Amino acid sequence: MGLMKSWVASANTVDHPFPLNNLPYGVFSVGGDDPRCGVAIGDMILDCLAAEEAGLLEFDEGPFFDVPFWNEVMEAGPRFWAELRARLQELLAEGAAARSELETCLVAQVDAEMHLPFLVAEYTDFYAGRHHAFNVGSMFRDPANALPPNWLHIPIGYNGRASSVVVSGTPVRRPWGQLKSPDHAQPAFLPSRRFDFELEMGAIVGTPSDRPVTVDEADAMIFGYVLLNDWSARDIQAWEYQPLGPFQAKATATSLSPWIVTQAALAPFRASCPPRDVELLPHLRDTGPMLYDITLTASIAPEGKPPTKLSQTNYREMYYSAAQQLAHHTTSGCPMNPGDLLGSGTISGPTKPERGSLLELSWGGKDPITLDTGEVRSFLEDGDTLTLSGHAKGDGFTIGFGTCSGKILPALPDPYAR
Ligand code: CA
Repeated sequence: MGLMKSWVASANTVDHPFPLNNLPYGVFSVGGDDPRCGVAIGDMILDCLAAEEAGLLEFDEGPFFDVPFWNEVMEAGPRFWAELRARLQELLAEGAAARSELETCLVAQVDAEMHLPFLVAEYTDFYAGRHHAFNVGSMFRDPANALPPNWLHIPIGYNGRASSVVVSGTPVRRPWGQLKSPDHAQPAFLPSRRFDFELEMGAIVGTPSDRPVTVDEADAMIFGYVLLNDWSARDIQAWEYQPLGPFQAKATATSLSPWIVTQAALAPFRASCPPRDVELLPHLRDTGPMLYDITLTASIAPEGKPPTKLSQTNYREMYYSAAQQLAHHTTSGCPMNPGDLLGSGTISGPTKPERGSLLELSWGGKDPITLDTGEVRSFLEDGDTLTLSGHAKGDGFTIGFGTCSGKILPALPDPYAR
């Protein structure tokens, strides 16, 4: 396919994350203006509300862009998603007739503040990366029995909190919680000492379901993908997780990158799940390549210091695709809705530099990491900024996700002190 040329000159380079091939969807504001829908093209944002009002982005089913979220576009369904993408590519392509009118609808990304791109209906997080599950199981149980007995048969998940999903750039405050270290007889209420990140992808459900769906149907329901950091308090988790799984350890915050990269933009990068140790039951069986070849990195910058790369991995390393996770989610009859967010689970690769959390990188704190700037880390310290980034590399073009970052603020004073 190659690079598709746009009249927005900055979009026409091999390495730019937002060429005409991409066109990710976000919500932005400039100055004191209300947040509105926009599409990234090169260094600019096309203001969709302005283009709609100018009659350039009008559709029979609309208006769509007088609200600060993309849920209404999702609800219009996959046929409309394709129509919108085709219209945007036509409007922004080199030689487009409406160029002079559209130029007045462009905003520079450097001038814009980004907001959550959609209303998060509900949030489910999975544990579907094999290397992560193996590492965690090896650390806390036994390498010979690292994977729980159900792991190779279903994508394990838990219901997370939509209320604490935030956009990249939002600071994250170190939580308090009930902790119990093995060498203390009694639990104590303290700020988390083992606060961590998890490098994940988020899949956004675009169309609803009211019955169990197949893997193929589930794949068609997915509107797009974002980078996702599932902030995790390991010490809170270690004490609370049995027998129902994580609860407060994961409730503080979940950060998303601001641009939704559509399934259509990612189509050239489809990749297969790894070979199966145990054949999946028919309703979860692979029917085609439903992962994507997306390079993912995590970096850390202590307060006032430049970043050090912690990890580089790939979305291909997942054992279960988002489509399999979504299909599994519906098996009970659980309805799914536009704006439902599915976290992939931590994405680690097989080697140490591919580990997607500090828990794994420092092996539970036993093997701390020395950053390029000299600091030593087992877990996140106050003032650290953790940044995820991701991109897929095509023939002469890049499909980028931008970044997903958050800075750790110190814990508040004891919220129960009197
Ligand atoms: Ca997670």
